[in-house]
This record gives sequence, structure tokens and C-alpha cells, in this order.
Amino acid sequence: MNQLNLFGGRNGMDDLNKFLMLVAVILMVLCLFIRIKILTWITNLLLVVIYARAFSRAFEKRAKENQKFLEIAAGFMGNKNPKRRQDVKAAKEGKRVLICPYCKEKLRVPVGAGTIKIQCPHCKREFEETV
Ligand SMILES: [Zn+2]
Repeated sequence: MNQLNLFGGRNGMDDLNKFLMLVAVILMVLCLFIRIKILTWITNLLLVVIYARAFSRAFEKRAKENQKFLEIAAGFMGNKNPKRRQDVKAAKEGKRVLICPYCKEKLRVPVGAGTIKIQCPHCKREFEETV
């Protein structure tokens, strides 16, 4: 019934997966123009990795991978992006930064708790999120 809950109890699309998806899409477009077999294979492999990570239940391992990725990404961007910097700081503490869907306030929640009900301390409204 709840289609949004497809990734319920699963890792879902974290920052690392979103990045891998972007790379996969770029590679797919490249594959349309450049007919190199290895490129197609890399793209397929990437998609397998994305699906495996999204449907994984090993939250701690996935969170660690995501944390590593965020640190590397922050390094590449010279730590200039304040949102990223906040995410990296939160990831180091085993937490994730969420945005309240009602008042857009930033909330920090522990990673790996599964689907949890969160009450926003700012607007006091509740929403569910898989972390
Ligand atoms: Zn709120």
C-alpha cells in the first residue's frame, strides 16, 4: 500500500548511491555515443552495486561506506559546501542531517535505527524517515 516505503528497512538511496547513480547515467549517455564494450560493462556493474547497496540491510556497513564517501567528497570540494560539511560532521558522529518536511529545519538523527518517527523540535510535527 505504502509505495514510499519501498526501501523500508533497507538502506535506500544515500549520498553515495545518488553519486553512483549520477555517474551511471553519465556513462549510459556516453555508451550511446561511444561503442566501447568495457564502458557498458562498467555501467552495468555500477547499477548492480547501486541496487545491492539500496536494498541492503547491513546499515552500519553502508553508513560507513557513505561516511567515507562524504569525507572524500568534502576533500574534493575543499570543504566549501556548508551542507556537505555539516553532513560529514554528522556522519562522523554516526548521525545524519535531515530536513523537516514542514518547516525545513535541520535535524540530526542517529543512523541505522531503521524507520523511525521523528518529532521536529522546531514545529513539533511528526514525520517518518528511514535512517
Ligand atoms: Zn519542523
